[in-house]
Amino acid sequence: MSGNWAPGRDYSAVRPPPLSVDDYLRGILAHDRVVLARAITLVESSRPDQQQMARELVTRVLPHAGRSIRIGLTGVPGVGKSALIEAFGSLLTARGHRVAVLSIDPSSERSGGSLLGDKTRMVKLSTDPNAFIRPTPNGLVLGGIARQTRETMLVCEAAGYDIVVVETVGVGQSEVTVAEMTDFLLVLMLAGAGDELQGIKRGLLELADLIAIAKADGANVVAAKLAASKYAYAMHLLADPEQGMAPVITCSALDGSGLEEIWKIISERTAERERSGYLHARRIEQNINWMWSLVDQQIHDMLRQRPAVEAVARNAATRVHDGVLSPIMAAETIISALFAEGGADRPMPAASRALPTTDRSPLEKAKS
Ligand code: GDP
Repeated sequence: MSGNWAPGRDYSAVRPPPLSVDDYLRGILAHDRVVLARAITLVESSRPDQQQMARELVTRVLPHAGRSIRIGLTGVPGVGKSALIEAFGSLLTARGHRVAVLSIDPSSERSGGSLLGDKTRMVKLSTDPNAFIRPTPNGLVLGGIARQTRETMLVCEAAGYDIVVVETVGVGQSEVTVAEMTDFLLVLMLAGAGDELQGIKRGLLELADLIAIAKADGANVVAAKLAASKYAYAMHLLADPEQGMAPVITCSALDGSGLEEIWKIISERTAERERSGYLHARRIEQNINWMWSLVDQQIHDMLRQRPAVEAVARNAATRVHDGVLSPIMAAETIISALFAEGGADRPMPAASRALPTTDRSPLEKAKS
């Protein structure tokens, strides 16, 4: 509760008027930042009526989305992600791009604290009229954050942002989630004391489209260059025969070195992938994944919203815990209870009745 709250005061005067889906869509397409922020709050809402509205809005936003270059950015806390976004984002807005920055931070769910999303990050970019920064919503598991970030990304694209950066901490599965929703994954690394390749997840290097050794300035330049050559060797061994080797460079948010090169690599690589059809195929695959994650999530929501089914689920969990029911039988009991409750034949939501529109690649959009 805000410290300024006082009993008896009429707060209806300060509360913004509710918006309809039409109002949201109109505001988003008119690049209205206030409406955009409210639309994202709607997408993040856990209230069933608002979720329904959000689904309708996202469905209507889809034909206007898909035009941006989606960049994933990952690296351990302290590697320099926010400093890089600040410097790199400012370079892009100075060239007339509109940049949205979203973050995925599953740590906030576990620890109650956040490794990203600190208000003091990206001070300059947060006041740039051509940038829009949205921190991670709190209190969600990775699956929920992923859905919301994906939908937020689409809303931002419809609001005219042509570059979307999705940032995450390099912990757990979050970088896989980011790679699954973006076109290009930039991995930031630090030069260490000669053992850079130890403890690095092989999977992360396989997902990377570009590795940048950060903080390559001052006395750290030599160590950064050395680390870059070690990573380049590792990437050579891991190279994807179809996509080739992900380049390794050095950069500094402090003196700006390497930032131009990062943009050149991202823009050229994305254009090349559009021409080859790879990007289109990647986005189609991402849409299929999105569909299944929505199915999973709606089944979970149905479970939670039906007290009788939830009671069956709780009871089944207790019996599995006590060793008197197998997990297989327990799962079947829960699914049977869900369908017996009429979960399978509930009315189709309005959003799904609308004409489906595929999430096309930036080049195709530009052509149409
Ligand atoms: P994040 O946790 O990955 O977002 O990392 P930050 O961007 O907050 O950076 C962590 C620390 O490294 C801060 O103290 C920054 O000032 C410092 N830092 C970030 N980028 C650079 C850089 O390019 N050069 C140098 N020398 N320090 C940097």
